[in-house]
Amino acid sequence: MIELSAQNRRAELGRATWTLLHTLAAQLPDHPTRQQQSDTRQLIDVLTRIYPCGECATHFKDIVRRNPPTVHSGPEFRTWLCHVHNIVNRSLGKPSFNCNLLVARWAPLNCSESEETGSSGSVNG
Ligand code: FAD
Repeated sequence: MIELSAQNRRAELGRATWTLLHTLAAQLPDHPTRQQQSDTRQLIDVLTRIYPCGECATHFKDIVRRNPPTVHSGPEFRTWLCHVHNIVNRSLGKPSFNCNLLVARWAPLNCSESEETGSSGSVNG
């Protein structure tokens, strides 16, 4: 049986999206390029508009409006992301995550890039 309820699909989508965001944040360098900063800000902005759970997107848009993303350094963005994830956690009655444990929970993937894709402007640094 592979059919999931709407609630389970929403949770699965949420876990997958947070995994993408926290992993991406873990790899944002201490001094991101302007392109990396712009890409990161845009990713968050786009999510507030096209995140597939409309109710979540509206909620997240309000959170981001009140807490604009800080993308000037990897550590700042990681802290911001942990903070906004905790706002979502609290709104769902979940416990807050201890942001001091971010590095232990979300390690960079450190995949080597293929020669064809090149490395300029990528968030992998
Ligand atoms: P998740 O919250 O998905 O977290 C995954 C893992 O991240 C956890 O197991 C933990 O190890 C770690 N983690 C938890 N908190 C933090 C943190 N603060 N910083 C770093 N790591 C952390 N669901 C709704 O029902 N309503 C909504 O309005 C809603 N809005 C959402 C908005 C966004 C942008 C996203 C990405 C998801 C949203 N969700 C929403 C989904 C919801 O946040 C959860 O993903 C879902 O309920 C599954 O929760 P979970 O307990 O498995 O862990």
